[in-house]
Amino acid sequence: MYNRYSLFLPIYMMIIGFVFLHPSLTFANENEHQERMALYKKTEAILSVPWYYLAAMDQYERNIQKEDTDDTQIALHFDPILWYGPGNHLHLKENSFVSMFQGIGMDGNGDGNADLQNEEDRLYAAGTLLSANGISEDDIKISLWKHYQRDLTVKTIINIAKIYEHFQTIELNNRDFPVDMNYNYSYNSTWGHGRGFGGNRIHEGTDIFADYGTPVKATTYGVVELKGWNLYGGWRIGIRDIYNIYHYYGHLNGYNDDVKVGDIVQPGDILGAVGSSGYGPPGTAGKFPPHLHYGMYRDNGKQEWSFDPFPYLKKWERIAKD
Ligand SMILES: [Zn+2]
Repeated sequence: MYNRYSLFLPIYMMIIGFVFLHPSLTFANENEHQERMALYKKTEAILSVPWYYLAAMDQYERNIQKEDTDDTQIALHFDPILWYGPGNHLHLKENSFVSMFQGIGMDGNGDGNADLQNEEDRLYAAGTLLSANGISEDDIKISLWKHYQRDLTVKTIINIAKIYEHFQTIELNNRDFPVDMNYNYSYNSTWGHGRGFGGNRIHEGTDIFADYGTPVKATTYGVVELKGWNLYGGWRIGIRDIYNIYHYYGHLNGYNDDVKVGDIVQPGDILGAVGSSGYGPPGTAGKFPPHLHYGMYRDNGKQEWSFDPFPYLKKWERIAKD
């Protein structure tokens, strides 16, 4: 005999495996950050495109790549056909050939070649692409859209750029636990369980039980993407971080009025308070014990899916205790 969850188990294990092995979730060291920053600044100096857009596009691509990219500073990658130009089947990389075949490849290190394997060349090509329509935020959005043709990708890169610009660094390693640990709370791994209300859905998060009014905090650096009522989630707030991860906080009692959509938050910022809102029209509350529903969704550049926050909550709890 089997139960209905056992059917999903292999899929869950695959997703969990991917998340744990994913390079974007391991932190680069300080030296790597400084070297990367130097490359961004150098390209900014030549092309006048603000460094944080280059850094954000690079970070976005680092997040969607499956292979370990730790050996290269710059994760930016381009389709070889686009890079060398359609018709340049031999991938002739001399500047004159690449421009003759209308490739987007560029020579960033001044060696006469637009080499797809060279990170300065890739960064220079990215800067050229980003600044093709001007360097205001709207101009950059147009350039990003032309290159990626996907709304979520454009939004994510612009968000990452805002965070880098705000903090003036790419080294953003702090984390916090989503409920104030000075209050009583408890949680178990409940992601993937079946749920009653709203039909045949799995539970896309971890429930952290705590009293009404317990402060709810941002766990990462991010941009507030959503704030308001939802039939299931009640008063909820959504934050997208620099790792292509969307953090969803549900069933709040109320919000911190200072936090608005589009705002930048950092770990520890108060977002609202624990409640029991949801499962009905706006204002419905008290249908279940108060808790924070914490969901995490990853975007791989093609689609977005829910994964288990429990291991991350455990890790952030340890960090917050220190
Ligand atoms: Zn929940």
